[in-house]
Amino acid sequence: MLCLGIESTAHTFSCAIIEKKGKNGKILSDIRKIYRPPEGEGIHPREASRHHAENSPQVLSECLEKAGVKITELDLVSYAAGPGLGPCLRIGAVVARSLSSYYDIPVYPVNHALGHIELGKMLTGAKDPLVLLVSGGHTMILAFLGKKWRVFGETLDITLGQLLDQIGRHAGFASPCGTKIEELASKSSNYEPLPYVVKGNDVSFSGLLSATKRIIPKGLEAACFSLQETAFSMIGEAVERALSFTGKKEFLVVGGVAANKRLSEILQLICKRHNCKFFVSPKEYSGDCGSQISWVGLLESSKKTGVKLENTFVRQSWRLDTVEILY
Ligand code: AMP
Ligand code: MG
Repeated sequence: MLCLGIESTAHTFSCAIIEKKGKNGKILSDIRKIYRPPEGEGIHPREASRHHAENSPQVLSECLEKAGVKITELDLVSYAAGPGLGPCLRIGAVVARSLSSYYDIPVYPVNHALGHIELGKMLTGAKDPLVLLVSGGHTMILAFLGKKWRVFGETLDITLGQLLDQIGRHAGFASPCGTKIEELASKSSNYEPLPYVVKGNDVSFSGLLSATKRIIPKGLEAACFSLQETAFSMIGEAVERALSFTGKKEFLVVGGVAANKRLSEILQLICKRHNCKFFVSPKEYSGDCGSQISWVGLLESSKKTGVKLENTFVRQSWRLDTVEILY
């Protein structure tokens, strides 16, 4: 089975083709174009969607060419139907809808968060993990139970990715800024106390954001170091409680922030204490990409037919814990 997956929830427009044989998936191609806002600014939804519309023909043709696949050989097309920015989501949906109606290929709307998890499982071999999804759009701790991914902790305000990006933008860098913050943080070991807010098993980052902005004038490297140590420890506390509650023996980190080495270091220590196997999504596939959408399309096609064209909606606030998993 060959599936073309289309991702366009936020900054990235990506097309990928995966071939599924039995339970195994092989990524044949994964082409991405990333919208970069001007330094110090965040994603402008209209500008990002314009970027996606302009780049979609080239990304699609490069994806087919690299995979060595003709459109007529595709068994299905899947697209990220949400959650995400409306104008951006609509570009991916239009491309999927057009290909589906013109070439008569079944089409599958896919939940973007589910894509991060399933691709992470496929690439690492994790079977039944407690999952930490940390990205620009999500900060969630999840475990699978009774046909749904259940939430065991999440952010009450901004996500971990937003926290890092907003600090980076405040310091004048271009978004996304996670890698830059990691690099600056690694040059300091000078901890400045910052607000640490865990409520129940949820985290809140907005106070930490304001307080970090206030200490930047004292030294950017120390501010980045203190920010990472505080935010990652909060996440670590919530993960540890969820691990101990669920008793899971596997733990998987996915999403763009999973690329951060210090975060993995903290989480690995926690897993060791709980005798739990640690998995992290490979850096190349931890952030948004077409592969995550393609793989979920293939998994869903084993149990469901595609949707009618009139049901190829986008849903900006489509929570993962409302999705029933049939495969
Ligand atoms: P996604 O929405 O899954 O594409 O993830 C994007 C987010 O990952 C952005 O907020 C980035 O700043 C963040 N990110 C990427 N690389 C790193 C890193 N090395 N450390 C921390 N955050 C990162
Ligand atoms: Mg994402």
